Amino acid sequence: MAILADPLRLVIGDKAAKPLASALDLRTVGDLLRHYPRRYDTRGELTDLASLRDGEYVTVQAEIAKVTSRPMRGGRGSIFEATVTDGRGQIVLTFFARGRQNWREKVLAPGLRGLFSGQVSTFRGKRQLAHPDYELLDAGDDADRAAAEYAAEVIPVYPAAKEITSWQIARSVRIVLDVLDIEDPMPRAISRRHGLCGLADALRGIHRPIDRADVQRSVQRLKWDEAFLLQAVLAQRRIAATAYSATPRPRVAGGLLDTFDRGLPFELTIGQQLAGVTICDEIAFDHPMHRLLQGEVGSGKTVIAVRAMLQVVDGGGQAALLAPTEVLAAQHFRSITEQLGPLAQAGQLGGAERATRVALLTGSLGAAARRRALLEAASGTAGIVIGTHALLEEGVQFADLGLVVIDEQHRFGVEQRDALRDKAGEGRPHVLVMTATPIPRTVAMTVFGDLEISTLTELPAGRSPIATHVVPAAEKPHYLARVWERLREEVTQGRQCYVVCPRIGGEQDGGGPDGGGPDGGGPDGGGPDGGGQLRPGADEKDDDGLGGRAGEDEFADRDAAGTRPPVAVLDLAAELERGPLAGLRLTVLHGRLPPDEKEAAMLAFAAGSVDVLVTTTVVEVGVDVPNATAMVVMDADRFGVSQLHQLRGRVGRGSHEGLCLLVTEAEADARSRRRLDAVAATLDGFKLSRLDLEQRREGDVLGSAQAGRRSSLRLLTLLKDEKLIGLARTEATELVSADPALAGEPALAAAIRGLLDRERAEYLEKA
Ligand code: ADP
Ligand code: MG
Repeated sequence: MAILADPLRLVIGDKAAKPLASALDLRTVGDLLRHYPRRYDTRGELTDLASLRDGEYVTVQAEIAKVTSRPMRGGRGSIFEATVTDGRGQIVLTFFARGRQNWREKVLAPGLRGLFSGQVSTFRGKRQLAHPDYELLDAGDDADRAAAEYAAEVIPVYPAAKEITSWQIARSVRIVLDVLDIEDPMPRAISRRHGLCGLADALRGIHRPIDRADVQRSVQRLKWDEAFLLQAVLAQRRIAATAYSATPRPRVAGGLLDTFDRGLPFELTIGQQLAGVTICDEIAFDHPMHRLLQGEVGSGKTVIAVRAMLQVVDGGGQAALLAPTEVLAAQHFRSITEQLGPLAQAGQLGGAERATRVALLTGSLGAAARRRALLEAASGTAGIVIGTHALLEEGVQFADLGLVVIDEQHRFGVEQRDALRDKAGEGRPHVLVMTATPIPRTVAMTVFGDLEISTLTELPAGRSPIATHVVPAAEKPHYLARVWERLREEVTQGRQCYVVCPRIGGEQDGGGPDGGGPDGGGPDGGGPDGGGQLRPGADEKDDDGLGGRAGEDEFADRDAAGTRPPVAVLDLAAELERGPLAGLRLTVLHGRLPPDEKEAAMLAFAAGSVDVLVTTTVVEVGVDVPNATAMVVMDADRFGVSQLHQLRGRVGRGSHEGLCLLVTEAEADARSRRRLDAVAATLDGFKLSRLDLEQRREGDVLGSAQAGRRSSLRLLTLLKDEKLIGLARTEATELVSADPALAGEPALAAAIRGLLDRERAEYLEKA
């Protein structure tokens, strides 16, 4: 008998276990059983050969059409070729050997059907599999064995690898299933209510289905497992959170907040007012608030945060504002200090009566400034402390931390949230998380399942739309010249522009895509993925590294094809200064600059003394310079959908119309090009984030809490399984509310422990 945690080698033997571990990282019985088939072939139904793509490892079911054998040139061996067909298309199986291969002609005879497995390539215009593994389905000699292996109508086809074929995996799965001893974690009542089959049954059914209906039934049940376990964890977390107490900070009449509101230079939008009221109420409560505030780029989230922070300061507490980059932290510091004016000048001449102070704490402060900031935080002199993840460090203390605001959530993982929360001492601080990346409901229910949500749907009045155009630089090179002319026109009208590049350049990154290319942090820093996890001490590298969807694979493709490296800030700035933008005031901004130079560049740009800022994605989030009206994104195909949307949010923040030009050399029919067209076609961040999600693996979406190499979500698709996730959430919440420790469901409690252990192990492994 075997349980899920058993090492595979004990069950199937070393020889079979080895390639599973080395090629697919499957080490336990559970790992193997969660390695689900990629698809199912119906016995006798041939694979559509036209669908195969070069480079893929595939398993195809096909019929041998003809075979040829010929000596190699130079007489050093022979080539045997079998052409197999799906009835329409063909693919050639090629076998090389030192000697003659007559025996193959007997085995691979025309008319036979089999499964063929190998890597697809193209040779002289013909698709081929070189040296494929094969398993004939009805060959004379093999008939008995094949019949036993493939008695079923439906043949599972597994994600396989060079070292191990789909049917070898199937064989191991079969052995494991035969000895499996498994407890069903799903509570009886829930299984009954939703017509779910048992877990053992579902595992058998997904791996060795009798028919398609069997597969469906099994998948449904296993999806439920995924959704339900996750929701049970989240429900437990929510309940644990309500057990904490927080210091209530009700609004104080005549406090800083009142003064601030009276002096606001604009009217709050309805959405801002509603969110404000909710937050105001929750901060006044004696349990910690856990709220996610989502709103389009430019919808005015900061002012909501400032108001909440002032309410807490009025109540005698402190607030911390955590920003993902130094550039953004510095900007928040500047603009909030400015907005507060005398309200933030405690102890200074001209300070208001109940004034507080705002402190900035980032990793790059000089020793003296750092000491001052630390002191102001620890003594409570600073009611508001703004910073990067430097705020999370151990030496940082607060006198009375009442509220933590986290800006641009996707840069912070759950672990960071917890670290800051822990600084509040006994009671817990209220937590407000802000993100400009709209999050589909199901993602919100899973990734941010422990947070309540407020959404800002409208932009403040008087905003101008942003016009976005794709500039196909490969097809129409002269368009690029027009781009620079266009920037010149903007500058002539007194406006400013951004030019964003995927790479920093200079010798340090050796011309490769690494140093500052959009390949660093997450699969897409723009998405709600949490992939852009902050690594302690990697602040400024992260600034640039965070984000592009361009994964390493994509780079590999292009570089292999002999394409140039992506456009770099330093190269392009020099070129523009000499050529098309000569005479304009250009400045570069990127993560490798020393912090004071970065600060100086941002300040100069904000003050209008720089016309064109040539930059990496450091400007991606939150940067707010209303006079900047145009943005050019070079090699735009290297960025993700949400990221581009974020980037263009930097322009059109004032009353002048924004312009965003996405320059690309991607072919008109390339996938990346379609992505750009989609960005150009809509300003609806919600639509774009769905699009982004559709194109990524679910695991990428889930953020650090979930995004191990093996996400716990295999079958569940967040976009399509909305209903199921909703049901699972309701069931889980009900169950956990009645029995928080799950004492009545030991199998479920054990499964949850297993899930969390796996996650923790992966988290540690990554760190
Ligand atoms: P985001 O939600 O992207 O963080 P910000 O908070 O940076 O947006 O706000 C963008 C700009 O809009 C800021 O300059 C801010 O002062 C301004 N703003 C915020 N709320 C309003 C409003 N109700 N009316 C007019 N301008 C506003
Ligand atoms: Mg913002």
